[in-house]
Amino acid sequence: MSEELGACSECDALYRKRRLNRGEVARCPRCGAKLYARARLDPGQMLGLVTGALLTFIIANAYPIVIMQVQGVSNSATLSGSILTLWSEERRLMAVLVFATTQLFPLLDLVAMTALLSVAVRARRKGRRRPAWFAPLLRFLQSMRPWGMTEVFMLGVLVALVKLSNMAHVLPGVALWAFGALTILLASILAFDLRSLWDETEP
Ligand SMILES: [Zn+2]
Repeated sequence: MSEELGACSECDALYRKRRLNRGEVARCPRCGAKLYARARLDPGQMLGLVTGALLTFIIANAYPIVIMQVQGVSNSATLSGSILTLWSEERRLMAVLVFATTQLFPLLDLVAMTALLSVAVRARRKGRRRPAWFAPLLRFLQSMRPWGMTEVFMLGVLVALVKLSNMAHVLPGVALWAFGALTILLASILAFDLRSLWDETEP
Protein backbone atom coordinates (compact mmCIF):
# COMPACT_ATOMS: atom_id res chain seq x y z
CA MET A 1 0.00 0.00 0.00
CA SER A 2 2.88 2.41 0.76
CA GLU A 3 4.01 2.09 -2.86
CA GLU A 4 0.57 2.72 -4.35
CA LEU A 5 0.43 5.63 -6.79
CA GLY A 6 -2.58 7.71 -7.70
CA ALA A 7 -3.48 10.77 -9.73
CA CYS A 8 -5.53 13.73 -8.49
CA SER A 9 -8.95 13.66 -10.15
CA GLU A 10 -8.96 17.49 -10.32
CA CYS A 11 -5.50 18.37 -11.67
CA ASP A 12 -3.88 15.00 -12.58
CA ALA A 13 -0.95 15.58 -10.22
CA LEU A 14 0.63 12.25 -9.21
CA TYR A 15 0.81 11.33 -5.54
CA ARG A 16 2.11 8.40 -3.50
CA LYS A 17 -0.50 6.98 -1.16
CA ARG A 18 0.51 6.80 2.50
CA ARG A 19 -1.19 5.42 5.59
CA LEU A 20 -3.29 8.07 7.31
CA ASN A 21 -4.25 8.55 10.94
CA ARG A 22 -7.92 8.17 11.92
CA GLY A 23 -10.05 11.05 10.66
CA GLU A 24 -7.21 12.38 8.49
CA VAL A 25 -7.89 13.54 4.92
CA ALA A 26 -5.14 13.49 2.26
CA ARG A 27 -5.24 16.55 -0.01
CA CYS A 28 -3.56 17.22 -3.33
CA PRO A 29 -0.34 19.22 -2.74
CA ARG A 30 -0.92 21.17 -5.96
CA CYS A 31 -4.66 22.07 -5.93
CA GLY A 32 -5.86 21.06 -2.46
CA ALA A 33 -8.56 18.67 -3.72
CA LYS A 34 -9.52 15.75 -1.46
CA LEU A 35 -7.64 12.62 -2.56
CA TYR A 36 -8.56 9.94 -0.02
CA ALA A 37 -9.45 9.75 3.65
CA ARG A 38 -9.36 7.44 6.64
CA ALA A 39 -12.59 7.04 8.60
CA ARG A 40 -12.82 8.59 12.07
CA LEU A 41 -14.34 5.43 13.58
CA ASP A 42 -12.53 2.08 13.51
CA PRO A 43 -14.33 -0.95 11.94
CA GLY A 44 -15.47 -2.23 15.36
CA GLN A 45 -17.12 1.11 16.22
CA MET A 46 -18.69 1.32 12.75
CA LEU A 47 -20.05 -2.21 13.19
CA GLY A 48 -21.73 -1.05 16.42
CA LEU A 49 -23.29 1.89 14.57
CA VAL A 50 -24.54 -0.36 11.75
CA THR A 51 -26.03 -2.86 14.25
CA GLY A 52 -27.82 0.05 15.97
CA ALA A 53 -29.18 1.18 12.60
CA LEU A 54 -30.43 -2.36 11.82
CA LEU A 55 -32.30 -2.48 15.16
CA THR A 56 -33.79 0.98 14.50
CA PHE A 57 -34.78 -0.23 11.02
CA ILE A 58 -36.69 -3.16 12.58
CA ILE A 59 -38.47 -0.84 15.08
CA ALA A 60 -39.29 1.67 12.31
CA ASN A 61 -40.94 -1.08 10.29
CA ALA A 62 -42.63 -2.98 13.12
CA TYR A 63 -44.59 -0.01 14.56
CA PRO A 64 -47.23 2.12 12.81
CA ILE A 65 -45.84 5.08 10.88
CA VAL A 66 -49.28 6.72 10.59
CA ILE A 67 -52.76 6.46 12.06
CA MET A 68 -55.19 6.70 9.13
CA GLN A 69 -58.77 7.79 9.45
CA VAL A 70 -60.98 6.62 6.59
CA GLN A 71 -64.71 7.34 6.86
CA GLY A 72 -64.49 7.76 10.62
CA VAL A 73 -62.63 4.46 11.16
CA SER A 74 -59.11 4.63 12.61
CA ASN A 75 -56.48 2.31 11.21
CA SER A 76 -52.82 2.22 12.06
CA ALA A 77 -50.44 1.45 9.22
CA THR A 78 -46.81 0.39 9.14
CA LEU A 79 -44.63 1.63 6.30
CA SER A 80 -44.90 -1.71 4.47
CA GLY A 81 -48.67 -1.61 5.03
CA SER A 82 -48.72 1.90 3.54
CA ILE A 83 -46.77 0.64 0.51
CA LEU A 84 -49.34 -2.13 0.01
CA THR A 85 -52.12 0.51 0.26
CA LEU A 86 -50.42 2.58 -2.45
CA TRP A 87 -50.12 -0.56 -4.59
CA SER A 88 -53.80 -1.49 -4.18
CA GLU A 89 -54.83 2.12 -4.93
CA GLU A 90 -53.20 1.70 -8.36
CA ARG A 91 -50.27 3.94 -7.44
CA ARG A 92 -47.90 1.16 -8.46
CA LEU A 93 -44.85 3.21 -9.54
CA MET A 94 -45.04 5.20 -6.31
CA ALA A 95 -45.30 1.97 -4.30
CA VAL A 96 -42.22 0.49 -6.02
CA LEU A 97 -40.17 3.70 -5.56
CA VAL A 98 -41.06 4.00 -1.88
CA PHE A 99 -40.30 0.30 -1.33
CA ALA A 100 -36.90 0.57 -3.06
CA THR A 101 -35.77 3.78 -1.32
CA THR A 102 -37.03 3.10 2.20
CA GLN A 103 -36.74 -0.70 2.50
CA LEU A 104 -34.68 -2.45 -0.15
CA PHE A 105 -31.67 -0.11 -0.51
CA PRO A 106 -31.17 0.74 3.19
CA LEU A 107 -31.51 -2.93 4.19
CA LEU A 108 -29.11 -4.16 1.46
CA ASP A 109 -26.65 -1.43 2.43
CA LEU A 110 -26.78 -2.25 6.16
CA VAL A 111 -26.46 -6.02 5.62
CA ALA A 112 -23.54 -5.58 3.17
CA MET A 113 -21.84 -3.15 5.59
CA THR A 114 -22.24 -5.69 8.44
CA ALA A 115 -20.52 -8.39 6.36
CA LEU A 116 -17.67 -6.13 5.16
CA LEU A 117 -17.03 -4.58 8.59
CA SER A 118 -17.01 -8.03 10.26
CA VAL A 119 -14.22 -9.02 7.85
CA ALA A 120 -12.32 -5.81 8.68
CA VAL A 121 -12.67 -6.43 12.44
CA ARG A 122 -11.35 -10.01 12.08
CA ALA A 123 -8.56 -8.86 9.78
CA ARG A 124 -7.37 -6.39 12.41
CA ARG A 125 -7.74 -8.63 15.45
CA LYS A 126 -6.62 -11.98 14.07
CA GLY A 127 -4.84 -11.01 10.85
CA ARG A 128 -7.33 -12.99 8.72
CA ARG A 129 -7.23 -12.56 4.95
CA ARG A 130 -10.11 -11.12 2.91
CA PRO A 131 -12.57 -13.80 1.74
CA ALA A 132 -13.18 -14.14 -2.03
CA TRP A 133 -16.54 -12.35 -1.87
CA PHE A 134 -15.09 -9.26 -0.18
CA ALA A 135 -14.04 -7.31 -3.31
CA PRO A 136 -17.21 -8.06 -5.37
CA LEU A 137 -19.45 -7.10 -2.42
CA LEU A 138 -17.48 -3.88 -1.85
CA ARG A 139 -17.83 -2.96 -5.55
CA PHE A 140 -21.55 -3.79 -5.48
CA LEU A 141 -22.05 -1.58 -2.41
CA GLN A 142 -20.14 1.27 -4.03
CA SER A 143 -22.28 1.04 -7.20
CA MET A 144 -25.43 1.07 -5.05
CA ARG A 145 -24.46 4.08 -2.95
CA PRO A 146 -26.08 6.79 -5.14
CA TRP A 147 -29.42 5.04 -4.41
CA GLY A 148 -28.70 4.65 -0.74
CA MET A 149 -28.34 8.38 -0.11
CA THR A 150 -30.04 9.76 3.00
CA GLU A 151 -31.89 12.37 0.91
CA VAL A 152 -33.39 9.61 -1.26
CA PHE A 153 -34.41 7.67 1.86
CA MET A 154 -36.08 10.72 3.46
CA LEU A 155 -37.82 11.57 0.19
CA GLY A 156 -39.20 8.01 0.01
CA VAL A 157 -40.73 8.27 3.51
CA LEU A 158 -42.10 11.77 2.73
CA VAL A 159 -43.66 10.68 -0.57
CA ALA A 160 -45.45 7.81 1.23
CA LEU A 161 -46.75 10.23 3.89
CA VAL A 162 -47.94 12.86 1.41
CA LYS A 163 -49.68 10.28 -0.81
CA LEU A 164 -51.39 8.71 2.20
CA SER A 165 -52.53 12.08 3.55
CA ASN A 166 -54.18 12.71 0.16
CA MET A 167 -56.14 9.49 0.53
CA ALA A 168 -56.99 9.65 4.23
CA HIS A 169 -56.64 11.84 7.28
CA VAL A 170 -53.33 10.80 8.86
CA LEU A 171 -51.72 11.33 12.27
CA PRO A 172 -48.03 10.58 12.95
CA GLY A 173 -47.29 7.17 14.49
CA VAL A 174 -44.44 5.89 16.73
CA ALA A 175 -42.38 4.61 13.80
CA LEU A 176 -42.08 8.13 12.39
CA TRP A 177 -39.68 8.94 15.27
CA ALA A 178 -37.74 5.75 14.59
CA PHE A 179 -37.42 6.83 10.95
CA GLY A 180 -36.11 10.19 12.13
CA ALA A 181 -33.44 8.44 14.23
CA LEU A 182 -32.66 6.07 11.36
CA THR A 183 -32.09 9.04 9.03
CA ILE A 184 -29.41 10.41 11.37
CA LEU A 185 -27.75 6.98 11.75
CA LEU A 186 -27.81 6.39 7.99
CA ALA A 187 -26.25 9.80 7.35
CA SER A 188 -23.18 8.88 9.43
CA ILE A 189 -22.99 5.36 7.97
CA LEU A 190 -23.25 6.56 4.35
CA ALA A 191 -20.58 9.21 4.99
CA PHE A 192 -18.14 6.36 5.76
CA ASP A 193 -15.52 6.16 3.00
CA LEU A 194 -15.94 2.61 1.65
CA ARG A 195 -12.45 2.61 0.09
CA SER A 196 -10.98 2.72 3.60
CA LEU A 197 -12.37 -0.81 4.15
CA TRP A 198 -9.86 -2.01 1.57
CA ASP A 199 -6.96 -0.45 3.46
CA GLU A 200 -8.29 -1.71 6.82
CA THR A 201 -8.19 -5.32 5.54
CA GLU A 202 -4.72 -4.98 3.97
CA PRO A 203 -2.60 -7.90 5.28
ZN1 LIG B 1 -4.88 18.30 -7.61
